[in-house]
Amino acid sequence: MRDIALYHGEGHGWIEVVTGVMFSGKSEEMIRRVRRALIARRRVQVFKSALDVRYAGVMRISSHNGAEVDAVPVRNSREVLEQAHPDTRVFAVDEVQFLDEGIVDVIQLLADRGARVIVAGIDMDFRGEPFGPMGRLLAVAETVDKLHAICVRCGNPATRNQRLVNGEPAPYEAPVIQVGGHEAYEARCRRCHEVPSATRDQTSLLDALGAGAEHAVVLTHESLRRPA
Ligand SMILES: [Zn+2]
Repeated sequence: MRDIALYHGEGHGWIEVVTGVMFSGKSEEMIRRVRRALIARRRVQVFKSALDVRYAGVMRISSHNGAEVDAVPVRNSREVLEQAHPDTRVFAVDEVQFLDEGIVDVIQLLADRGARVIVAGIDMDFRGEPFGPMGRLLAVAETVDKLHAICVRCGNPATRNQRLVNGEPAPYEAPVIQVGGHEAYEARCRRCHEVPSATRDQTSLLDALGAGAEHAVVLTHESLRRPA
């Protein structure tokens, strides 16, 4: 895994994303990087989503040379921006998938100001779709590390979060974030990942793609008819 400072000299910031499925060791990898920044005596600030105590994770990171930093719970991107100190050289944000889309602009701003920003979070929700701001963060980051867990069904690398409600796969229509629910999660591979749905099968997906192509043709004809 990466430890390196990508750019040398003042004023060069960047974004590094540590992402992947649940149970893949994202937070541990983020902590490892933060610890090394502390050893290097960098000024470090760590934030984490305060969404749900179940995702509490790390609260304090300390290094062998006695430096330590508390992970500050934040409810939204504005709180990150308000608490970001101009002298901080390294920022870390854990469970970033739970924050609002504004976190992308905040993280970009911090990197533009010259800070190294380490972001950790789940890439896909239980449906296998981009989780919150994560899709855009993956696009704008300088480096991306995708970690895997092990599929509990077949033992292959797991990339998907299987949500189970009373032991059964949760339906596609269930909300992405279910605070205080009684569901459980498993790491699974693409093949073993199950998202049952009454409305979204392969036929409806093909229909949707067909409708999209038709729409594109109509637009082209209209633009041809339009006078120059
Ligand atoms: Zn599997």
